[in-house]
Formats: sequence, structure tokens, C-alpha cells
Amino acid sequence: MENSCLFCRIVAGEIPATIVHRTESTVAFRDIDPKAPTHVLVIPVTHHANVTELAADPAAAADVLAAAAKVAELEGLDEGFRVIFNTGAHGGQEVFHVHAHVVGGAPLGPMLSRQ
Ligand code: 5GP
Ligand code: ZN
Repeated sequence: MENSCLFCRIVAGEIPATIVHRTESTVAFRDIDPKAPTHVLVIPVTHHANVTELAADPAAAADVLAAAAKVAELEGLDEGFRVIFNTGAHGGQEVFHVHAHVVGGAPLGPMLSRQ
């Protein structure tokens, strides 16, 4: 755990979050500022800064993806959903503990806004 990391502190229970699913290796909780009717963040309990670091730990990466799929099922996203890993400055990443955004519950529109 990194004391200065917001999401490590959520894993440790030091900062409250609305947890929707938990496994030994992952925690899933509602985004504080949802961008869709369903917006859940899935994180590994171990600190990895971004998806590149997560990819270097295949077991943790697989667990995060499996948890994202489970969250979509639990949230009833039968019509579809997106899983997004914002990464680095161009990706708009703001919290540097890797997290999969699971978003859905309504048509999400184009994947990206045109520049
Ligand atoms: P990023 O931009 O890093 O991909 O996404 C960070 C996400 O974390 C944002 O969607 C933001 O709303 C969410 N977030 C930031 N602080 C908190 C918090 O304290 N609790 C929860 N549940 N979500 C947070
Ligand atoms: Zn962390």
C-alpha cells in the first residue's frame, strides 16, 4: 500500500466508498462523479500506477478484467457497456492507481469526441 494513494486508502478502508464487488485481489466501487447511469471503478488491491504496470502482472490484470465483467453482470448491463483505462497525460488519467472504468446503463454515444 502507498499511503499517499487515494485508491490504496479506499482498499484499506481509510476512505469511504460504495463498494459493489470485492474479491481477494480486486475492489469495485462507484465513481464519485459518475459519467453514465452506471459508473464503477475496478482496481487491483495491489498498487500498480497504470495499465502498463498492470499488464506486467498478468494474474492481477486477468483478475481486474474478470471483476469488470462480473460488475457488468451484477449491474445488469445486458445491453452493453464500456471498459476504459485512461492512461497518462494524453489519456486524461487523474488517479495513478490503475482502475478500469465500467460504464453503461444507457447508450454511450461515439467512443471519442472528434477533435
Ligand atoms: P481517471 O481520470 O484517473 O481515469 O479517473 C479517476 C476517477 O476517479 C474519476 O472518474 C473520478 O471521478 C474518480 N474519483 C476521484 N476521487 C474519487 C474518490 O475519492 N472516490 C471515488 N469513488 N471516486 C473518485
Ligand atoms: Zn494505490
